[in-house]
Amino acid sequence: MATAFASSRCAKCKEVVGYGPECFSCSGKFHFGCSGITERVFERLEQNKKNWSCSSCRENKPKLAPISKQLSQGKDPIQNIDVDCGLVMGKAVKLILAKISSLETQFAAFQSLQTNIKQVVNDIAELKTILDSRIDEVTNKVSDIDSRVSLLEVAKKDVTDLKATVTELLERDDLISK
Ligand SMILES: [Zn+2]
Ligand SMILES: [Zn+2]
Repeated sequence: MATAFASSRCAKCKEVVGYGPECFSCSGKFHFGCSGITERVFERLEQNKKNWSCSSCRENKPKLAPISKQLSQGKDPIQNIDVDCGLVMGKAVKLILAKISSLETQFAAFQSLQTNIKQVVNDIAELKTILDSRIDEVTNKVSDIDSRVSLLEVAKKDVTDLKATVTELLERDDLISK
């Protein structure tokens, strides 16, 4: 991108540079004369939204095998993307990698949330077990009370029978004594 900072110095001749091309890869600013690109060509690149890299960056561009070959050699092409594309679309790739790493952070947060949820589910299961055993206890007590109540009912019936017998006996006694 052509910019006009009075303080900028040309990456090649180290002299102050005003308006001139800026290397997309190393961000170095150049005089048009030092850059090897004409103002006209540079402006056409800009109009077409294409990036320009200085000659030293172009020469230093490492030659990497195509992704398919890297994969077949057991290499991780993702590790090389930064180098491979650094000169052409480094900024975009770095942005994408930053997004990926932020997604990874979010995913890690999600995983810890998932762990928490699992913990809560376990706690609930544990509570349910405790509750179940309490319910069993209460059920046992209720059936115990039930059986006592039926014993009491039997006893009550016995008492009623006994009362009737006593009354009958007393009536008989009455008749005899009269
Ligand atoms: Zn220069
Ligand atoms: Zn450069």
